Parts: sequence; C-alpha cells; structure tokens
Amino acid sequence: MKDAQPRTIYLKDYQEPDYWIDQTDLTFRLGEDYTDVTAVLQVRLNKNKQHEHLPNLVLDGTDMQLLSVSIDNQPLDSSLYSLTTENLSLPVNAEQFTATINTRIKPQENTSLEGLYRSNDMFCTQCEAEGFRKITYYLDRPDVMAKFSTTIIADPKKYPVMLSNGNLIADENLDDGLRKVKWEDPFKKPCYLFALVAGDLACVDDEFITHSGRKVALKLFTEATNVDKCEHALLSLKRAMKWDEEVYGREYDLDIFMIVAVDHFNMGAMENKGLNIFNSSCVLAKPETATDGTYQRIEAIVAHEYFHNWSGNRVTCRDWFQLSLKEGFTVFRDAEFSADMNSRPVKRIEDANFLRTMQFPEDAGPTSHPVRPASYIEISNFYTLTVYEKGAEVVRMIHNIVGKEGFRKGSDLYFSRHDGQAVTTEDFVKAMEEANDVDLALFRRWYTQSGTPVVHVSDNYDAANKRYTLTVKQNCPPTPGQAEKVPFHIPFAVGLIDALGNDMPLDEQGNTTLVLDVKEAEQTFTFNNISEQPLPSLARDFSAPVKVEYPYTRDQLMFLMSHDNDGFNRWDAGQKLAVDIIKELVEQQRAGMTLALDERLVTAYKSLLTGSSLDKAMLTKMLALPSEDYVAEECDVIYPLSIHVARDFVRRTLAVKLHKQFKTCFDANNTQKAYQPTAEDIAERSLKNICLSYLTLADEQGIELSWQQYQQANNMTDRFSALSILENAVSVKARDYAEQALASFYQQWQRDAQMIEQWLSVQAGGEYTDLEKIQQLMQHNAFDMKNPNKVRALIGVFANRNKVHFHRDDGAGYAFLADQVLVLNRLNPQMASRLLTPITRWRRYDEMRGALMKEQLQRIMKEKDLSKDVYEIVSKSLK
Ligand code: ZN
Repeated sequence: MKDAQPRTIYLKDYQEPDYWIDQTDLTFRLGEDYTDVTAVLQVRLNKNKQHEHLPNLVLDGTDMQLLSVSIDNQPLDSSLYSLTTENLSLPVNAEQFTATINTRIKPQENTSLEGLYRSNDMFCTQCEAEGFRKITYYLDRPDVMAKFSTTIIADPKKYPVMLSNGNLIADENLDDGLRKVKWEDPFKKPCYLFALVAGDLACVDDEFITHSGRKVALKLFTEATNVDKCEHALLSLKRAMKWDEEVYGREYDLDIFMIVAVDHFNMGAMENKGLNIFNSSCVLAKPETATDGTYQRIEAIVAHEYFHNWSGNRVTCRDWFQLSLKEGFTVFRDAEFSADMNSRPVKRIEDANFLRTMQFPEDAGPTSHPVRPASYIEISNFYTLTVYEKGAEVVRMIHNIVGKEGFRKGSDLYFSRHDGQAVTTEDFVKAMEEANDVDLALFRRWYTQSGTPVVHVSDNYDAANKRYTLTVKQNCPPTPGQAEKVPFHIPFAVGLIDALGNDMPLDEQGNTTLVLDVKEAEQTFTFNNISEQPLPSLARDFSAPVKVEYPYTRDQLMFLMSHDNDGFNRWDAGQKLAVDIIKELVEQQRAGMTLALDERLVTAYKSLLTGSSLDKAMLTKMLALPSEDYVAEECDVIYPLSIHVARDFVRRTLAVKLHKQFKTCFDANNTQKAYQPTAEDIAERSLKNICLSYLTLADEQGIELSWQQYQQANNMTDRFSALSILENAVSVKARDYAEQALASFYQQWQRDAQMIEQWLSVQAGGEYTDLEKIQQLMQHNAFDMKNPNKVRALIGVFANRNKVHFHRDDGAGYAFLADQVLVLNRLNPQMASRLLTPITRWRRYDEMRGALMKEQLQRIMKEKDLSKDVYEIVSKSLK
C-alpha cells in the first residue's frame, strides 16, 4: 500500500546497480502456517560505477518478516542495518561478500498472487515483474543476473512434487519425516524468472529430440483430475520447439522443460526458466470441455512462453521500461507460429481486429503510453495491449522493412551479440539495422511516441498521362504528456485495382503491391502507366498500426469486398461498409426514426453466402458484423445502447432476409464428424455456428435447432455456441431452454474449474442478465472473489461485454464496478486496476454516462490505502 504520494519512476533516471549478485542459493521450509526462506547471496561491487566509498547494499523487500541477517557469516545486530516497509539497507566493508538473509513469509495469506502463494492445495510463485521482493530481500531488478539454486524442504505426503528452475541435483529424506530436494539452474537469470512449485500433482510426460539430437524431457504437472486435459498443450509445445529451430535457429538449452497448471493466476502464463507456470485456463483442454477458441489460445500461449526462453530469458530486459523488448517480439513470434499452424490471413484479421478494437482505445485514452514507456508508478499497470500487441506490430513493421531473410539475419545477430545479457529495445533495433544496413532512425519514433497515427489518403487520376497519384497525410492526435508529435515512418502497402477487380502492375517487375515509405507529414506518390482509373487498396495486410481514411463510397466497398486480392482488406471493406451502415442507424435511432437498413448490406451478405469462393475460415470472418466495441471506437461520442440497438437491428434484418441462404450454409457444414481441433474442422464449425446464430434470430425453428445442437453436440464448441445463442435469444421458449441448459451444465460440470468460468461468463455477457442477477451470481458457490478467472468471467465480462445492463441510465453498473474495485484493491491490486478499465474511458461517452463514470472514479480516489496500481490508473483517468 502506498505512502501519501506514490513515487513515479523515470526511464531517464536509469542507473546500473551499485552491486551485482553472482550466485543466489535459496532454501525454503514450506509450512502450513508460514514459510521460512534463507537466501545466501554472493555480492560483488559494480566497478563500472564510480564510488567514493562503499555504498550500502539496499535490497528490495515487502510484506515479510526479517528473522536475521549476516554478512560473511557474521550476524548483524539490528542496530547495524536499516529496515523500511520497502527496503533493507546493509552496511558494506568489502568489495565482495556473502549476505545471508532469513525471512518468514505467509503464502497462505497472500491474495495478491505475487511472490509465493497458495492455489488450492499447492504452493506456487509469480515473480514478474516485482514479486520476488515478497519472497526475500533482493536486488529485484532484471539487470541483476545470478545463478540460482533452490532447496525445498517440505512434508512429502502433502507435497510429493517439489519443483524449481533447472535440474534436480539432490533428493533426500530427512530424519524428521520431511523431504529435501535441490534444484540448480545453470543459466544466469534475473529473479523475475525464478519459480517454485510444491503440491500433490500428477505428471504427464513426453519428450522432444532437438535438432542437434539432444533429448528433452517434457513434463506437464496438474491436479490428478486433469490428466486427460494435457495432450493438446504438449502437442503445441513440441510444435513450437520445432518451429523455433526451423524459423529462428533456436534450440532448447536444458534437458528438462516443465509446465505447471494453477487455478489462481493473475495473467495467462509465465516463462520462468525451465518451469513455465500457466493459468489452468490457458493450458488444459479436452473436446468435451474446451472450445476451438480455447484450443487455439492454448497453442498460442504455450508457444509464447516457450519462445521466451530465447526472447526474454537468454536475452532479457535491462529495466522494465524495456518490457516490449521481450513481449512485443515474443507476441510477434507466437503470431507467426499460429499463422503457420493455421490460416495466415485469418490470424492476421483476428490480430488486427483485436488491436483496433482494444488497443486503439487504450492509445486514445488517459493511460495512453508509448511502446517503451518513459515513466510509471506501478509496473504491473504496463502489461498492456500497447506493450504487447502494438509492440508486436512494431516488430512486424521491421520484419516487413528488412524482409524475411533480413529479419532472420537481424535476430541471429541480436541473439548472439546479447546472449546472457540484459538489454534494451535500442539494442534490438540496432541489431536489425546493422545486420541489414538499413536506417531505422525515424522508425524508432514508434517506441517513444504514443497514440494512433491517422493516415488521410486522397488520389488523382490523370487519364491523359496515365498517371495516378496518391497523396498521403499523417497526423497523430495528442496523448497525455505528448501534445505535439513528429511524423512516423509508416510502411504503407498499397495495391491498385482495375474496373474488373484485377490488381494492376505497379512497376517494371509487375509487382501488384508496393510498400510506400511514408516518413513525412505529407507526401505524394506517383504511379505511371496506369491505364485506367483505379480503386486503391490501402495498408494491405494491415501493414502498420494506423487508421486509414479514404472516402470510399458504399458501392466501392462492396466491390472491394468481392475483389480485393488482399485477404485482410477484403475483410476490412466489409467491416467498413457495415460500420458505416450501423453508424447511420445509430443516428436514426437517436433521432427517434424508424430504422431502415441499406439493402446493399443484404446484397453483399447474400453474395458471400452464395457466390463466393472464400474458404470457410475467411467466409466466417466476413459474415461477422463489427463488434459493438469496434463501432464504438469509430464513433465520436459513444451511445452504447443506441449502438446495441442498431447492430441488433442489422443482425435481425439479415437473419430474416437471408434465412434460406443461412440455412443452406448451416446444413452443408453440419457434418457431425468426430471432434478434432484442426484448422479445417475449426473453420467448418465456426461457419456452421455463425449461421446458427442468424437462424436463431429469424424464427422459432432456429431456436429449436440451437436447443437440439445444445443437447446433441459431441464437443464443447458446438454445445457452448448453442448455449450462448440461446442465452441471448429473445423468445419465451429460448429463455426457458437457456435456463434448462444452464442448470444441467452446472449440474454436470460444477467440479470443473474451466467449465464454471464458461458458465459464469456466458451469463455475465447475456442480454437478459441484469445487475441484480450478477449480484446473485456473486453469492453463488461457483464464484470466488479470490480467483481472478472467476472475477474476470463474471465482473469483467459484465463490465466489458454486457453493454445494455452495465451502461444502464442510473449509473448503477458503474457504482457496482467501483464497489468491486475497492474490495479487490485490498485483496489483489493488479486485478483491481485492470477491472477499472471501462470507466477510465469516461470522456468518450455521452455526457450523462461520462459524468456518472467520473463520479465513481472520484469516489475511488477518496479511499484511504489505495494500492499504487489503482492510484495510478484512477489519478491518470481524472487528469
Ligand atoms: Zn510474454
């Protein structure tokens, strides 16, 4: 908890530490009431720095009891050191010495889920970013890299499995009935990569032979009831290991790689060296309980954490401002992996859509920050979509500038030059620059300027000279602390399409897509030998994280929807058309007019369903209307209820007018085959289920069809689709089916944590779930305020997806959210500050809602004992 004014940390103040730690030997005595930790640290003066005399060794540490401390085996009397709630400062009289520190911690009472804590009956850790300081006093910063050993002493009956990083090197039974094991990690690492797990866990074994022929034991640990949910994660892991060898030349470096699934986890997963710890919802799956979406998410996250072994662990971050060095790069790596394993254009659509829908609002809001932030109060608040997803787009732009082979040369140089080091985004860019002899000087602005650039494009065709020009203007709206911006280097991929829908050759080589290097506020690009007036296809494949403005007519968008050769832009043309039409309906709704749908959308959808040659995955994407969030992002002022009504009207109208086509498509894809999470089958199910959602909107037969599918499905994808369709359908019959389905679902799966999360979330987002129902569910056995997955499933989904009830006129939804934030502020500050997000965007809403949200932020601000996490977000939102 904060002092009066939490301190802001600045990148410009970075300094190397006064001391290094070369070796860290930890001993844990795990007990039921408390755990005692002994840390033996080999400390060495940092001679890169000038010292007039030997400075004190100032270690980080919070929330623990110091039992004793000694230097070179001489106990220090408490009069000799100084202790605050955040630091232990020790006197030093030699350039090298051994510090031994004994602390007592209470994992059982640790609800923040940072440091060492309990999840059900096991012990586990989460140390990134600054959790290690809750385990022992330490130099808790990523540029201090030590070799670690971990000794664990515990009751073997309660904790038959005792794990830490590296290799097991000793295992003995002690006289007092306890067992002692010792793990040793041969690689130097910062303490944020430390991990410990102890519990009664089952293990599923596998192995991988590396390309140089070494055998790696793969082990997935989980509670015994989940051993049938491990296969997919292990398969994904082996695919990721192989892919990283082939695409990046990166081989795994230990003889053992372990994954542990835990039910209580603040984020998705953590890349601790040799011992990844996962939120169980991001690793466990079987067809009866996991949806296709879950299968794909597991594949991506298992790969992501594995890839960190090189991009994050072998080469790590100098300080936390460099977080995107490992996260942006690793998200880019996992996205490319997923693209190779599944459909590349569809993966690109999903990622770009996610960025535009979720990160653009962050970049335009009160917590907007650069990919490499310049300051923070609480680093946990910077595990953001900007650092992760926009960071990945920045790496992708470098990839596109230097090309595939150039990128590999750059990454090879980066890994070899910096192996074993803690470095910066600047080091990464430099390696890319030097390996390719390119100039990324202007490009670096992507790391330091926040906000989403807007690119305005206008064109001119000079028929007499067969010359076509594109004029590109960029600007970036002001963001907190950055009123004025300088131009970005934007790789802007364009194609030109003729009247028949064919790509026109743009240069002598006949290339049909060119990447324009946009570097100035305004630039004009000329294309010669253009035989007719073209229609431009802009920022193909989402070549930069920008907003593109070009005055397409609705007819031109329809044309692009069926003709653009770029898969992403073909999809985006449909999105633009639908957004334009929904926004028009929002205006009609607000003016009290009868809603009238532009028939062209019906025509466009009809030709998708009947005439198109698209594969099933693409077709599904094209049939999905832009989300309410994306429409909101495109509106100047957000009227959430009007957006909901307008979009709903479009869905219903399409459902009725294209009933026959949806039914034909549904039948053709309702093949009832045995479940397999292959890209092809996933696409077929997704197409079938989007058709089902339209059919259910059309009439009672559709509702019967959903009910039938709910009861007869042989996999959770189909069953859950049917359930959520029913849960959101209006008829009395549908309400009744939904109720029956929810009751039987709970009956059957109440002991399965992942299923209960699904059960909570489908209700939380339900059109007919009001605030009172949410409050009832909070009292249900299924809910637990100390479990982040359940908080996200119920409260998070309500606040982010249930637009109708969360945004109700009296502001009760906002007050409810603020109440929960205040409870979590004490239990789990990280969760509390994340949950706040929807009301921090109050300036974007209509005046009435904006004022109600602001009122709740002010109420939170008045609370005594605000965590740094919540304080930072609320104070920035009110500025
Ligand atoms: Zn990561």
